[in-house]
Amino acid sequence: MPSPACPLCKKRGISVDKATVICHAKESVWPIVDDHYYICENPGCNVVYYSSKGCLTKADVKTRVTFKESDPPRPLCYCKQVTEEDVISAIRNGANTVEEVIEATGIGGGGLCKFTNPYGRCCSRNYLPFIERALDRKEG
Ligand SMILES: [Zn+2]
Repeated sequence: MPSPACPLCKKRGISVDKATVICHAKESVWPIVDDHYYICENPGCNVVYYSSKGCLTKADVKTRVTFKESDPPRPLCYCKQVTEEDVISAIRNGANTVEEVIEATGIGGGGLCKFTNPYGRCCSRNYLPFIERALDRKEG
């Protein structure tokens, strides 16, 4: 079954676990009443989570959702609290490979993404491509 569209921007989001939504929603919007939530992936949309009963906007969510933010700090790895800026400065300070960036920043391997990452999915799907792109830029 395709996921329902975001009530604000009408783009289809992806399913997130209720446990994830509870971790990121501000206490002011409790109780989290629905069982099926979706995350809106549109960077320009103010909605973060939505369900058939309504939406939670950026103002209702306490976590900085990286793809909805254009200013630093932009979190890359939520378990280890490593940002894009941390990765860039590690590369500037001499890290030349993905492994060296991981070693310098401590990024990854936290294992708590279900609760710490607003997607409820492993942060490596975001940080590995980011590190590779940043290293490419350095060489190029
Ligand atoms: Zn949206």
